[in-house]
Amino acid sequence: MNEHIAQLVALQAIDREIDLIEGKIKSEQNGLDEQISALAKREAVINDLQEKISACEKEVRTLEDEVAEKMNHVRERQSKMMQVQTGREQTALLKEIEDAKKSAKENEEKIISLMEEVEKLKVEAEEEKNLLKGEKQLVAEETEKVRTNIESINKGKKSKDNERRKQAKQIKENLLRKYDTLRERRNGLAVVNVVDGVCQGCYMAIPPQKFNMLLRGDLMFDCPTCQRIMYYTPPVEEE
Ligand SMILES: [Zn+2]
Repeated sequence: MNEHIAQLVALQAIDREIDLIEGKIKSEQNGLDEQISALAKREAVINDLQEKISACEKEVRTLEDEVAEKMNHVRERQSKMMQVQTGREQTALLKEIEDAKKSAKENEEKIISLMEEVEKLKVEAEEEKNLLKGEKQLVAEETEKVRTNIESINKGKKSKDNERRKQAKQIKENLLRKYDTLRERRNGLAVVNVVDGVCQGCYMAIPPQKFNMLLRGDLMFDCPTCQRIMYYTPPVEEE
């Protein structure tokens, strides 16, 4: 194998290991982030319940004020009853009193059902708050665990990073740049093997002429389809 390619292949092996390590760190962090966003969701549910409770309580106060007003009106009409002379006036007043009482009673019924609703919402909010409390505790423990895990993963990463630096020094600058760009653009895979004339990066066949040249082993080619740097290693003979 071409010496430059051999060095790139070695570098890529290290980089793939670093990718795995970084993936582990990311998945640790993602798991935690999910839990934290679940907390935020529950907090939003609790806020929503509390807003509903406030709105119900406000409506209750309005209805109670109305009841007081209506009952004042009833008392005022009742005292006026003493002063009226005709039966017609009396009937009119009695009707007014009846209507006001009926309307006050309707308000009272609304108030009762609103209070029941408030009780229900308060129970619900209390349950959510208890759940949140437990979850917060868990997330705090999890955060500590994740921090420790990431710390120990990072220790392993440091030695790999050193290894990577040493290996990268062996490689010509412009080749290294090309390799880095390819890795960035081609999903972490810059150098690929060719098996039976097929690029193992994009799985497209390469022109037979190029494959033949590659078989000679000392030349470097880019895949005409995915531009990755290609190499050829003869298949291991099975015993
Ligand atoms: Zn390719």
